[in-house]
Amino acid sequence: MPFTPTRSAGFDRLQAFLPDAGRQYAETRNYDDGPGRGNVSQLSPWLHTGLLREHEVLEATLREHGARAAEKFGNEIFWRVYFKGYLEQRPSIWRSYCQQRDTALTALDRNAGDRTAYEEATEGRTGIGAFDYWAQELIETGYLHNHARMWFASIWIFTLKLDWTLGADFFLRHLVDGDAASNTLSWRWVGGLHTKGKTYLATKDNIARYIGRHPDGPLDAEGLATDASALTEPEDHGRQAPDLPGPAGSESYAEPYALLLHDEAASHVPLDLPKPPALVIGAARPGARSPLPTAKPLRSFARDAVANGTEAARKAWSCPHAEWSPQTPLSDLLTPHGIDLVVTPFLPTGWTRDALWPALAPLAEEGRLVQVLPDLQRATWPHATAGFFGVKKKIETAMREARIVGA
Ligand SMILES: Cc1cc2nc3c(=O)[nH]c(=O)nc-3n(C[C@H](O)[C@H](O)[C@H](O)COP(=O)(O)OP(=O)(O)OC[C@H]3O[C@@H](n4cnc5c(N)ncnc54)[C@H](O)[C@@H]3O)c2cc1C
Repeated sequence: MPFTPTRSAGFDRLQAFLPDAGRQYAETRNYDDGPGRGNVSQLSPWLHTGLLREHEVLEATLREHGARAAEKFGNEIFWRVYFKGYLEQRPSIWRSYCQQRDTALTALDRNAGDRTAYEEATEGRTGIGAFDYWAQELIETGYLHNHARMWFASIWIFTLKLDWTLGADFFLRHLVDGDAASNTLSWRWVGGLHTKGKTYLATKDNIARYIGRHPDGPLDAEGLATDASALTEPEDHGRQAPDLPGPAGSESYAEPYALLLHDEAASHVPLDLPKPPALVIGAARPGARSPLPTAKPLRSFARDAVANGTEAARKAWSCPHAEWSPQTPLSDLLTPHGIDLVVTPFLPTGWTRDALWPALAPLAEEGRLVQVLPDLQRATWPHATAGFFGVKKKIETAMREARIVGA
């Protein structure tokens, strides 16, 4: 399915999928029917870039199916919100992932055997037919079905015995929806680091069962590991209370401000700003996902999403706009317009924040940065302290707090 980086294309996909987002989704979502699949939404690229917001998708699903039939799909949307909230409260997981990835990449240069195994895995030449197919599908399309992501990560860790951070990095360099929280924490979940000691083992029978309708099937999955002993790590990633911005009242917008859109929030529409900005700035940093080159489909999607979102905001408010490239000091964009204040959708833990924060931190210290956190995240994240169950039992309350119509 082509991913077009506009808000209207995201809505088109949502509208096309909505009739299937109820019981049909609950019954069939685990089946990977190949690249022509229609049983899952494939909305993740639009959700990741904030061209569509979780809030809007939940409301549309509730409207179409009612609370009961929409429950399964809604839960999956909440997995995304949960993972973001969990990482926000344990940012050391992201830092240690980046360090371990960099160490593992350097170590490949010293070990020819590991280098060969890594290249075979990332080029789809391991000889395990299903795994090689998914590697190619990921490279060609920038997307994998959730079950294929689980099988792939499990085979990577337990059969090929490669470092999990290299696999997570491979995903981030190719997935159009690549997300610091969902990706890192899912890989950790498969390896037994998220739910301590509980791993996910891919088996030939399970794969055969859920790819039965695959047009290129059956995909061979011989020789998989039969044991999945949990990975361990030296660091204990203790929880820290997140430094979340409070609700931004209209006094926050008292002076002329620049609205900053970025790879995780490329549209102004869901923000519901009380006052128009005097300048719109777009900053896309897809190259910051990895020290290695990132794939073209995700780079184009991220850059065009931000460019299209910035253009839409410029049109909506008839204000000037600018692209903030990594080489340009932010003050070069603000000073000519006499603007001191920057308003931006919340920058969650991950590479976008890593790339933009050095320039934004001085503004934050001087009280010249307002971060806008959506109500759904504000209502949900306090419950994202341990397992997903803690969030699951608060879904209704969180949706009501976030004033989701139909909840
Ligand atoms: C190893 C691994 C790596 C992953 N990496 C990413 C990633 O980088 N970015 C990403 O968005 N998701 C990631 N996921 C989660 C999930 O696979 C994708 O969100 C989902 O496959 C996207 O396809 P979809 O939009 O068709 O999902 P649907 O089944 O249609 O679900 C709708 C939405 O709910 C959310 N969602 C669904 N399942 C999950 C889940 N298990 N965890 C978190 N959110 C979920 C997504 O936002 C998705 O778009 C990963 C899962 C695994 C096992």
